[in-house]
Amino acid sequence: MTDVTISDLPLREDLRGRTPYGAPQLDVAVRLNTNENSFPVPEDVAVAIVQALAGQVRDLNRYPDRDFTVLREKLAAYLGHGLTPEHIWAANGSNEVLSQIVQAFGGPGRSAIGFTPSYSMHPIITTGTSTTWIEARRDDDFRIDRDDAVRIVREKRPDVVFLCSPNNPTGTALELDVVRDAYESTDGIVVVDEAYAEFARAGTPSALTLLPGRPRLLVSRTMSKAFALAGARLGYLAADPAVIDALRLVRLPYHLSALTQAAACAALDHADELLDGVEALKDQRDRIVRELTELGLRAVPSDSNFVFFGGLHDSEATWQALLDRDVLVRDVGIPGYLRVSAGTEAETTSFLQALAAVLHSAS
Ligand code: PMP
Repeated sequence: MTDVTISDLPLREDLRGRTPYGAPQLDVAVRLNTNENSFPVPEDVAVAIVQALAGQVRDLNRYPDRDFTVLREKLAAYLGHGLTPEHIWAANGSNEVLSQIVQAFGGPGRSAIGFTPSYSMHPIITTGTSTTWIEARRDDDFRIDRDDAVRIVREKRPDVVFLCSPNNPTGTALELDVVRDAYESTDGIVVVDEAYAEFARAGTPSALTLLPGRPRLLVSRTMSKAFALAGARLGYLAADPAVIDALRLVRLPYHLSALTQAAACAALDHADELLDGVEALKDQRDRIVRELTELGLRAVPSDSNFVFFGGLHDSEATWQALLDRDVLVRDVGIPGYLRVSAGTEAETTSFLQALAAVLHSAS
């Protein structure tokens, strides 16, 4: 071994001093820090996935279908909205989809804008491609003000606009008017990151409805959350077929392995069963909002499978005290606030009891 550090390497100047994405992966009884789905894959779906994988193994000497045709058919059928396989793209997690978008439409001399606090990977993906990151702020209720959004997009002229709905870490959904107006304000790409769309409350619309006639609008989704398949790494996108052609220019050949394609297809064949846990998680989410409010905290109304809550005297200390009680939540670096994923009823109870005990001992 040598004692070389990163600063000794001929690293790109614009990467020096940056920190990688790093939500702690700790072995803790109650893990509610990365908005995973707490329900394991049901046994019969697991068996179906294993069979689908087994059907591929002998052919692993061959490269997979580069255009993942069957998977795109199934994703289009799942999304509905009149979408066809030509409107669909997929990659290893929606992080990779987002990264391909910025590779194709951003780059040196170009810029992307986001409305913070929002998903921490948007700026990391942006700067990773030497695209300039522009930060706009949400209002005090973590909403995006329509007029502000129009003004700043017109002024900054970004090549990519990131909108996130429901937003991570706040759980806030966007009104479609904001998406529509942001789109009209730019000649660039507008990405609506809908990783948590399936957890939206009744009446909260998806930007998928806006796709017809808007070739620069992209809606990204994932199987990591509602489908309980974070470990399989499958994210996807709906957009105009011309956008899909653009993404083909930057994707690595055969980026979706035959095993990934087979697992995702088998999962989509059992979509109803996999999505069964969504309602239970929404119930736990609503319970968290209710009970945290009763504890005197500020729980932000959520359309996701997590809740952002504030009113904490010392959020770092609260995070540590919860961890000491075997409950892992997320500190996204906003003083006074923490984020917790809705878990099973038992996990949620453990979190709520631990937090009540922590607040009690601090008072
Ligand atoms: N978008 C948002 C808003 C997210 O919160 C996440 C995961 N935390 C992702 C995208 C990426 O998810 P994945 O790569 O697992 O699809």
